[in-house]
Amino acid sequence: MSKKPELATGTVALSVVIPCYNERDGMAEMYRRVTAACEAQVGDEFEIVLVIDGATDGTREAAFSLAQTDGRIVVIDLSRNFGHQIALTAGLEFCRGERILVLDADLQDPPELLGPMMARMDEGFDVVYGQRLKREGESWFKKATAALFYRLMRKMVDIDLAADTGDFRLMNRRTLQHLNAMPEHYRFIRGMVNWIGLKQTAFHYQRQARFAGTTHYPLRKMLLLAIDAMTSFSIVPLRLASHLGLLFGFIGLLTLGYTLFSWLSGDVLPGWTSIAAIVLVLGSVQLLMLGIFGEYLGRMYMETKRRPLYVVNEIVRFDRAAETKAS
Ligand code: UDP
Ligand code: MG
Repeated sequence: MSKKPELATGTVALSVVIPCYNERDGMAEMYRRVTAACEAQVGDEFEIVLVIDGATDGTREAAFSLAQTDGRIVVIDLSRNFGHQIALTAGLEFCRGERILVLDADLQDPPELLGPMMARMDEGFDVVYGQRLKREGESWFKKATAALFYRLMRKMVDIDLAADTGDFRLMNRRTLQHLNAMPEHYRFIRGMVNWIGLKQTAFHYQRQARFAGTTHYPLRKMLLLAIDAMTSFSIVPLRLASHLGLLFGFIGLLTLGYTLFSWLSGDVLPGWTSIAAIVLVLGSVQLLMLGIFGEYLGRMYMETKRRPLYVVNEIVRFDRAAETKAS
């Protein structure tokens, strides 16, 4: 794991960790609503950790100027774009709160739900995770693929991942300590939190449309996240090999019987079609299985390098008047 640069010590009651990619147009509104929600719950005892994930549209500058006016904001500026899950990891490693709220910068998950989520945690839960009832302003394609993904994951993985959950959740410090102790590079954080166990509960809410900008999760990135999720939590795809092998072995036996029968009845010439079909099917199955092996092998290779997960360019935090910088 990367070393944690020295930040002002001591903990606060609440940290809100927000990974921000290109979110310039939503920053001011996000700041307004998040601070209002936090103040209503914990007064001044909170920090907002903005992780700037290699933004190119002025989000960084917007975050810096917010930090200048408000000492409760910590900006972690990553050296480049590392992706949502890694940016979130960086924020989770640096934050100091007793309780930690994970939020997106685009206000799709309403910060005002902090109150009820805190109340739920007071009932004795370690994690209160948001579960979406309805998603507004997202394409049917996104909703359909997301739904398919969660159904598939639930069938495949050994953990009980609730459907329709994102990274929007409130967790306590002891849960976060376990999460921060997980060094893997291919991170599917909602699954990792679920894996930790302890006392977790769902909190139902309606997902809103983005306040500004467009999604940074196009199909390609969603597929990558899905592959990360499945390979991190399941070896069922590897087992596919033996299942498919058995299936096609059985089909092969049937075909063999048929060939022998044709040979005995003197009808030997036809058969190109079936041979071609068999070769094609087997060839594609073998390639598929090689691909799946490759996915796991590649991940094992990357994990063995034990690289830090991210690089921090600078950390900016204005302690009321004084400025603290570390890198
Ligand atoms: N994000 C990030 N790095 C990326 C892509 C996204 O930090 O490479 C952030 C983004 O700014 C937002 C959150 O991750 O706060 C979720 O992204 P987005 O809203 O685009 O995803 P969606 O809600 O459409 O799944
Ligand atoms: Mg979003």
